[in-house]
Amino acid sequence: MKTRITELTKRALCKWGEDIQFTIAMEEAAEFIQAISKYQRYGDKYALASEYADLTIMMEQIRVILNDDELLEKWLNYKCDKMDKILDSCDYGELPKKDC
Ligand SMILES: [Mg+2]
Repeated sequence: MKTRITELTKRALCKWGEDIQFTIAMEEAAEFIQAISKYQRYGDKYALASEYADLTIMMEQIRVILNDDELLEKWLNYKCDKMDKILDSCDYGELPKKDC
């Protein structure tokens, strides 16, 4: 699937350019936020899945535009490490927890 998305990304960037793809990425991020809200309120799983797909495609376009996988990997690792520390800490001990 990722290969297909990457190929479509290259075609989209060639046809429409980076500026419009950034605009569409912002629109899709907003639609994703709205879909999360509707999922929480109404349980609309299909809208959330649809917007997840749209945002995943746009995130791949941003990855291709940035053209720096090493930088993205560093940030992903940094954020994962940070989340790992938060999960290990007691900072959120008072919040209700989901059964794991
Ligand atoms: Mg959408």
